Amino acid sequence: KVLLEVRDLHATVDGTEILKGVDFTVKSGEIHAIMGLNGSGKSTFAKVLAGHPAYEMTQGTVRLDGQDLSSLAPEERARAGVFLAFQYPIEIPGVANDQFLRLAYNTVQAQHGKEELDPLEFDDFVREKMKQLEMKPDFLDRSVNEGFSGGEKKRNEILQMALLEPRLAILDETDSGLDIDALKIVANGVNRLANKDNAIVLVTHYQRLLDYIVPDYVHVMEAGRIIKTSGKELALALETHGYDWLHSEAGRAL
Ligand code: ADP
Ligand code: MG
Ligand code: MG
Repeated sequence: KVLLEVRDLHATVDGTEILKGVDFTVKSGEIHAIMGLNGSGKSTFAKVLAGHPAYEMTQGTVRLDGQDLSSLAPEERARAGVFLAFQYPIEIPGVANDQFLRLAYNTVQAQHGKEELDPLEFDDFVREKMKQLEMKPDFLDRSVNEGFSGGEKKRNEILQMALLEPRLAILDETDSGLDIDALKIVANGVNRLANKDNAIVLVTHYQRLLDYIVPDYVHVMEAGRIIKTSGKELALALETHGYDWLHSEAGRAL
């Protein structure tokens, strides 16, 4: 069953066209990786899907479960089940992380007509989730993302994802790279979330993460388009040969 269908997507930021006709289809139960050189438009694509206000969709269609997403605000897309772990998550000084997570969780619960959790119930729930994810609960009572290291921000995003159980999770890896512990947390979170009814899109500059998460499809983005789609072996080929190789005869043949 098709979950996300993107057709001929064009998008601009500050009047500059960055996405130049992206076609991309994701079915329920699939894990997709989007790779590509720095500046190819991967983060832009992720942000456009999430409805980031700085980006304007100028052409094409984006549908989730057949529903046109283009006119929906970011929070409405979130309600429809789209989760984007932001590349540079916001800091919210003065708001404790556990309060923030509980608010996010209860908002989604309420939308689905389910019971909300009080602070004590939520504390038990979130600590159990963190145990499953092999996360230390040390950052729960700090302000949201304030002074978090890259690895802590990433763990926090994965925790949010695990709590919210989105239909479509889009994870944009920072190009600066994560340490091996953070990579394993991400991989563990993704592998636990993945089931036959949802889908995951991993945006990643490096192949490393794909040592721990096996994607069904690997796509390469270049100059605002997806220029190649293949299986997981494509990531390994890129690791060995680099991106230029895709334009060689052997690369085109893969
Ligand atoms: P990636 O995530 O693949 O590294 P990005 O989506 O971040 O690529 O960027 C794609 C292109 O868009 C780059 O050339 C970048 O310089 C450009 N870009 C990103 N943000 C802006 C902006 N606010 N204004 C103008 N150009 C931008
Ligand atoms: Mg970049
Ligand atoms: Mg990026």
